[in-house]
Amino acid sequence: GPCPSVTWPKPCLILLNPRSGSGKAYDLFLRHVNPILADADFPYQLVVTRSLDHVRELSTSVPIDSVSGIVIVSGDGLVYEVVNSLLNRPDAEAAVRSIPIGVVPAGSGNAVVSSLLNYLGEFHPDNLIQHAALSLVKHRPDSLINLDVGVIQTPTNTDRPLHCVLSVTWGLIADVDAESERFRILGGARFGLLLTKKCLAGIKRYRGRLSYLPADPANQLIDSLPNFDQPVPTSWTVLERDFYTIGALLMSHLAEDFFPVTDWQPDDGLWRLFCVYPCSRSQFLRGFTGAAKGRLEGDSIEVIRARAFRLEPLTPGGHMMIDGEPMSYGPVQGWVMPGKVRVLMS
Ligand code: ADP
Ligand code: MG
Repeated sequence: GPCPSVTWPKPCLILLNPRSGSGKAYDLFLRHVNPILADADFPYQLVVTRSLDHVRELSTSVPIDSVSGIVIVSGDGLVYEVVNSLLNRPDAEAAVRSIPIGVVPAGSGNAVVSSLLNYLGEFHPDNLIQHAALSLVKHRPDSLINLDVGVIQTPTNTDRPLHCVLSVTWGLIADVDAESERFRILGGARFGLLLTKKCLAGIKRYRGRLSYLPADPANQLIDSLPNFDQPVPTSWTVLERDFYTIGALLMSHLAEDFFPVTDWQPDDGLWRLFCVYPCSRSQFLRGFTGAAKGRLEGDSIEVIRARAFRLEPLTPGGHMMIDGEPMSYGPVQGWVMPGKVRVLMS
């Protein structure tokens, strides 16, 4: 096997979402992942999950000492759910230290694993799942990746914030993500289909106020934010204007074929505020295609590095998504807990 010298003292709990992507997660696992795990003598217990509640229940109740980690076979949405379940446990601090997560991409959105594999120099889009499995069995207990977690507040959840690993999105990206759910039989192609439709129909403008603390070395780390009825501190920049979309990103990739961030580290503690401003269709297409490959050109697209942000939509009605899952539409703000969760990858 690829790592004969390592023995794992405890099995991993593998949670496989049979409905992720176009519904082929179990086949993918048997065909591409199981042989790699077997070859490496990687011990695991596989659970094909019945529902989202089943996933939450297992990741909330698994005893800390009983597993060497939780491996998610699904898309970005289930990574989000497992991280939130761990951080909502009464023993959250111990749980995130003792239960690292692993990710095997079987969803339609696999941005988390794409970012991590790219960071490790192992991003091969045509064999993503095999390389994720190899990276999983290659990990050493002393070389786990520490991954940033965003703390996301809305006016109604300040005592129980959401935890973000990938992104909070609004405008075009959120609309594409939410409205493409019904095309999930297409797998990852569902995003491109909807994007093309929206581009042809004319992209909706959203007015909003984006405030952020720039990632200046002089600025201190943030570990709390003012209430929504308080203005942001004077050290913040405030931008009130029309947008096509904003993605507050904690990763380099938003999709397997879309990576607007090129200088990413898993624990750099920064948001990248990916902003697209209204422009002509040709400017949009040029800008978006370049951004997908990490090239930022023209003035209609920018990526702002920030320690914290507040986004106040001024156009009523629309979608807001966290890690590709729907959240309530309205004001939202976030800061970062650097390197809060650990990932089973080397
Ligand atoms: P994809 O990228 O294909 O959307 P996700 O990991 O985002 O993959 O899918 C997660 C979503 O799948 C969850 O929000 C959950 O509600 C839904 N889901 C449907 N059936 C199941 C199941 N049997 N087990 C777990 N999650 C499920
Ligand atoms: Mg999803």
